[in-house]
Amino acid sequence: MAVEEAAPPDDSWHALDPGQALARLHADQQGLDPEEAAGRLHAHGPNALPPPRQVPGWHRLLRQFNDPLILFLLAAAVLSALLGHLVDAGVIAAVVVVNAVVGVVQEGRAEQALSALRSMLAPSARVLRAGHRATVAVETLVPGDVLLLEAGDRVPADARVLRARGLRVDESVLTGESVPADKQVEAVPVEAELGSRASMLYSGTLVATGQAVALVVATGPCTRIGRIGTLLGQVETLTTPLLRQIARFGRAFTAFALVSAVALLLFAVVVRDYAWLDALMVVVALAVGVVPESLPAVITITLAMGVRRMAARNAIVRRLPAVETLGATTVICSDKTGTLTRNEMTARSVATAAGRVEADGSGYAPEGRLRAHDGGDTALAAAQRVARIGLLCNDAQLRAGEDGWRVDGDPMEGALLALAGKAGFDAAAVRSAHPRLDEVPFDAAHRFMATLHADAEGPGALVCVKGAPEQVLALSTAQVGADGAGTALGTAAWRAAIDAAGADGQRVLGFAYRRLDQVPARFELDDIQGLVFAGIVGFIDPPREEAIRAVADCRRAGIAVKMITGDHAATAAAIAAQLRLADEVRVVTGQELDGVPDADLPALALQASVFARTTPEHKLRIVRALQSRGHTVAMTGDGVNDAPSLKQADIGIAMGHKGTEAAKEASQMVLADDNFASIAAAVHEGRAIHDNIRKVIAWTLPTNGGEALAVLLALLFGWLLPMTPAQILWINMVLTVSLGLSLAFEPPERGVMSRPPRRRDAPLVSPFMLWRIVLVSVLFSLAAFAMFGWAQARGHDIETARTMVVNTFCVLEIFYLFAVRYLHGTSFSLRGLRGTPAVLWAVGAVVVAQLGFTYLPWMHALFDSRPLPLPEGMAIVATGVALLVVLELEKWLLRRLDVFAELRTVAGSAATQGEATA
Ligand code: ADP
Ligand code: MG
Repeated sequence: MAVEEAAPPDDSWHALDPGQALARLHADQQGLDPEEAAGRLHAHGPNALPPPRQVPGWHRLLRQFNDPLILFLLAAAVLSALLGHLVDAGVIAAVVVVNAVVGVVQEGRAEQALSALRSMLAPSARVLRAGHRATVAVETLVPGDVLLLEAGDRVPADARVLRARGLRVDESVLTGESVPADKQVEAVPVEAELGSRASMLYSGTLVATGQAVALVVATGPCTRIGRIGTLLGQVETLTTPLLRQIARFGRAFTAFALVSAVALLLFAVVVRDYAWLDALMVVVALAVGVVPESLPAVITITLAMGVRRMAARNAIVRRLPAVETLGATTVICSDKTGTLTRNEMTARSVATAAGRVEADGSGYAPEGRLRAHDGGDTALAAAQRVARIGLLCNDAQLRAGEDGWRVDGDPMEGALLALAGKAGFDAAAVRSAHPRLDEVPFDAAHRFMATLHADAEGPGALVCVKGAPEQVLALSTAQVGADGAGTALGTAAWRAAIDAAGADGQRVLGFAYRRLDQVPARFELDDIQGLVFAGIVGFIDPPREEAIRAVADCRRAGIAVKMITGDHAATAAAIAAQLRLADEVRVVTGQELDGVPDADLPALALQASVFARTTPEHKLRIVRALQSRGHTVAMTGDGVNDAPSLKQADIGIAMGHKGTEAAKEASQMVLADDNFASIAAAVHEGRAIHDNIRKVIAWTLPTNGGEALAVLLALLFGWLLPMTPAQILWINMVLTVSLGLSLAFEPPERGVMSRPPRRRDAPLVSPFMLWRIVLVSVLFSLAAFAMFGWAQARGHDIETARTMVVNTFCVLEIFYLFAVRYLHGTSFSLRGLRGTPAVLWAVGAVVVAQLGFTYLPWMHALFDSRPLPLPEGMAIVATGVALLVVLELEKWLLRRLDVFAELRTVAGSAATQGEATA
């Protein structure tokens, strides 16, 4: 392709003029044609770096053996093989291999679930294609594409700056320099080193401030970062504080088990006279049985399942720990516009000195009429002037699609375009009659936007400003009077009009302009002054229906919802009331916050439910204040300046649509639909996941404990062993990979959102669970001995008796699974008995495995098992039913006696609440 031949050697793009660079790439300022872009994509390949090399399967398999317990087990297998016990050795080896394979599969599943999420977050870039703005996947960028960048964007490819405005780029990923570098259009000398190539933008760096138009010169592996071979943003951890805690617990427990095993071995051989190889085998099996080695894997899967369920509800988790923290959220601080409201703006009214004008029509269709409420034709003319400012001081575009009119850009600006259409303007004609020369972009810190336009005829210029009305008023020195001529500014009257519109929940914007005799040399923030105020426009942006419901859910769940907005106090208060954020909405403005010392802030932050006219810095103070009172804070954000508060929050939540890349990267979670209801859904899932983790633990520990206790007692008292070592390993293998895992798929219990948030510092194993672990372990071993004794009393041989014990354990564990599925409510319900597909599959698998174990001849050879007659089988199942009844009675009794606060809080609410919205 000609493009490649013409390309300058390696990287001298920074030394070329924009024109030269464009020419070399056969591109122009208007961007490539879509067909040309597709062709180049074919020639150059995708703008992506090759994926990191996968860890090979055998490596993963081997890694499973890197566990002292497994090594211990293998040593025992080798030893027994050497001593001629080939069957035992074989069984152990098989158990070890099955365990390892299951481990690999489980890890793979968890990783799959997480990498699927990563691809959901694939970033996009704004480009010009044949003169039109388009949003494309970063992967499809090609050399010659014209990029539109603004603060908060991650630069998606290496690019030559074509236009820049206040552009500063954080290049620390490349240069290590933490201060953002100024960027410019002018070429720099060829010999300039990377850090001083001010005319270049490099892939992977972050736009800190300003805006730019830039020409893509290199993509994918040809970029600077691609050549270094660093992968950015890929180092997401697969671990969480909880997993680390459990891993630590597991290691300590393993060490303890091994030491005890050695002591027990000595005791069994010396005191109880067991043959030492037999004793060794039992002790090893016992250690394996008691150590919950699959717990971390099962919990990882539980988390991964939760992550997947959250994704299905539009909450995309970027960092695994968020899944845990979400469930403990006590305060959600949310943006207003677009999150709590629909962000489908409609300009309803225009107020000018000449009177008030209403707009009809709905949506973004630029069709309809303006109707003077009072003031007649002069009011209409004045409103038209406002509408024209709104059209010029505007970056959005309207597009007629199949399903109506849509906005490319800010919805509020889209609404202004629709308003201009209703005022009779043809957007394209007005824009080309007043070409834009320069602009001061909107920023949440100064809350207005200004544009500079050439006059249609003559050398003059026109400044158009729109923004928060107080702000625009402050920049104005005069206003358009009722008769259209300039008069003194009537600030007080405007204030009243703004408050009145705000009280209706309308979002209010002020408009002003200024004529200049000549085009100014400079057009910066401080140059915007001496404006003529033209009027205000009121927009309606109704609350989302689902947000109203979600707020109610959160409040019932003991979670406070606070709105933090850049909008006017009156508007915010009205919307907050519609959302029923609090019984009595208390509004605090950014200005008030500035006057409050840090020490007094926590009390105020707790009390207020609306923070209006705030800046991103206020958000940071609010999060800190709430956290200082022990709150777990979820906070939303979208701009670059929100990054610090998103990082500070316990759960930073970025907006998927309107959020900048910087905000997304700083956050733990991204909302695919920018919707508050998705946060509430994520909290709901977070609580369910935490419950499930507790259920996994509540199931695993006592079942392991029960087996171990039975064998331990036998060894200590020199009784006949109720199970052989191979049988212990069998139970361990069959059950933990099936039953325990099925708990990862549990749906939320009833009333998850009607109990107060869990305390962050609450131990994972609560007093109730500890009691459960002890009780169930004891019940299990009692049942095992009872069954063992009863079998012998019925004249069965020892092998048959042991087969009955093994089956008893399996039955007990199945029934206990049903008990554990409802830690909070009763297990005796239709829903409880029906189970989930996962539970049914797991139970089915265990039943099949046990039937095989009991009736297949080769199983008899391997495990010394024996077929059982029907009455014995029924007796075994009866123990399971008995267990379930005992545990239900226990739950009821404990609740009656009010022993564990945990049961108490839930009992009341679960009874009064219906099914949690699933
Ligand atoms: P919100 O919390 O509602 O998203 P923002 O910080 O986006 O608030 O905006 C704060 C205020 O700045 C708005 O109430 C509005 O007055 C003004 N504003 C917002 N967007 C623009 C814009 N594109 N141009 C001019 N002014 C704007
Ligand atoms: Mg906003």
